[in-house]
Amino acid sequence: MTRAKRGFTLIEIMIVVAIIGILIAVAVPGFIRSRERARVTACQENLIRIDQAIQQYVIQENVQGQFVLTIPLSYLVGEENYLRNMPECPSGGTYTLHAPDDQEPVTCTFQTRTPYPHALPWRPEGS
Ligand SMILES: [Zn+2]
Repeated sequence: MTRAKRGFTLIEIMIVVAIIGILIAVAVPGFIRSRERARVTACQENLIRIDQAIQQYVIQENVQGQFVLTIPLSYLVGEENYLRNMPECPSGGTYTLHAPDDQEPVTCTFQTRTPYPHALPWRPEGS
């Protein structure tokens, strides 16, 4: 009479653990990359909103060419103002306003080692 086989052998468990390890090794970097890309996209949306608010401010207050924008970001925020709520970088960076004529009228302080910078993706033409 043979002994009934119960449970798994050490080899079977090692193979299963190795397969799970390979799956995790493949999935985790992609997950981290996509999370960072989502954060960059959210930050760029904020930068575009702030840039548009700066342009609106320059037009409505008629400060073009005679004024270097040194106002704090909070000045643009408010129910009756140019931004409804304070934009926050999802990675924890802070936004700095520059002159409205600058190539980069607003920048994020967050520095990343990924190829996705926290920067305006483009400057809308004619604005
Ligand atoms: Zn940012």
